[in-house]
Amino acid sequence: MKVLVINAGSSSLKYQLLDTGNQEVLAKGLCERIGIDGKFTYKAPGKNTIDAVDVPMPTHSEAIQAVLNALVDQDNGVIASMKEIDAVGHRVVHGGETFANSVKIDEKVMAALEECIPLAPLHNPANITGIKACQAVMGPDVPQVAVFDTAFHQTMPPVAYTYALPYEYYEKDKVRRYGFHGTSHKYVAQRAAAMLGRPLEEVKLISCHLGNGSSVTAIDGGKSVDTSMGFTPLAGLPMGTRSGDLDAGILEYLMGKYSMDIREMLNVLNKKSGVLGVSGVSSDFRDLSKAGEEGNQRAALAVDMFNYGVKKYIGAYAAAMGGVDAIIFTAGVGENSPEQRMAIASGLEYMGVKMDAQANNTRGKETVISAADSRVKVLLIPTNEELMIALDTAALA
Ligand code: ADP
Repeated sequence: MKVLVINAGSSSLKYQLLDTGNQEVLAKGLCERIGIDGKFTYKAPGKNTIDAVDVPMPTHSEAIQAVLNALVDQDNGVIASMKEIDAVGHRVVHGGETFANSVKIDEKVMAALEECIPLAPLHNPANITGIKACQAVMGPDVPQVAVFDTAFHQTMPPVAYTYALPYEYYEKDKVRRYGFHGTSHKYVAQRAAAMLGRPLEEVKLISCHLGNGSSVTAIDGGKSVDTSMGFTPLAGLPMGTRSGDLDAGILEYLMGKYSMDIREMLNVLNKKSGVLGVSGVSSDFRDLSKAGEEGNQRAALAVDMFNYGVKKYIGAYAAAMGGVDAIIFTAGVGENSPEQRMAIASGLEYMGVKMDAQANNTRGKETVISAADSRVKVLLIPTNEELMIALDTAALA
């Protein structure tokens, strides 16, 4: 089946056309500056790359149209006509408590998606705009599927998702832990079971998605039972620019002292904090490692804080599940930084983790990076959210 995967942001749209049969990426790219001017990027194996060329994109509809035009282009395209696209899979950030699985989109689903907007006021409207644009451009006959970042975590028990706030905020206002990166955690969990040669239902996994945004998830028997992100993606680990968990009392103190309103405060917590805030250097871990090696103490501290945070979650989730069979590293940092994987996993020997330094010295491919006699396996697994979305979409369409 040929599935077009769409990840629509407010002014951008990432796309991939995948063949779910052989799991091949036929073409992929990006529309940027939608609503401003419009830049279009397209890559397909064996074809000419289109790199950020000007294409007018007043709305997401023109962006989708540009994608379709490129896919069917006589010289550069990869399909003969739009009819070859069997279904479209949309990444949707927030499915609230309504969506515990991916879902085929119809009018009722659209209404439910609108109801989830207050939970993700920045992201969900853009995702909905992307869906509507596809419906408008491709017509009603092409099945569209929504795949949620939150859905995988809907299996968490109340003890993991409830905040210690007055209970009516949960009942009336749906304030609870939702968790994000669910598509990635689900994908790597499936791959981990395959690598271990054991049924997913029988293994306890701790999945560390460490990128610009980072989260750790406890996965027991294939089900998410706890995760580090919360009501929003601001919670949990320190990230590229997000603070992660902090004492809420700090907000009152800083807002009073610097006359910030909540919007300004949240801008600091989302955009100016994390490893960027601590280091003052960069949100990019490559820059931080380099600066740390050159003697920048704050850059080194930022990386150490991040690694320490991940290690603490691994300990917490092993305790929560009563053990762990494998720890998974994925996403930008998890896939590409042997040093950070080693820093995180060392010191966990007491719980049966023994790394293989040589095996760990690799990047971006599925590898067992623990020693042969390590009771807990440590796995490097490149994530593939687009493939997961495409597979869910194909299954539902
Ligand atoms: P996003 O959350 O935006 O999807 P990614 O998963 O692509 O992020 O991760 C981006 C992060 O991965 C950046 O901080 C980048 O520095 C880091 N990264 C990429 N390559 C390396 C590397 N070789 N060593 C360390 N960090 C890396």
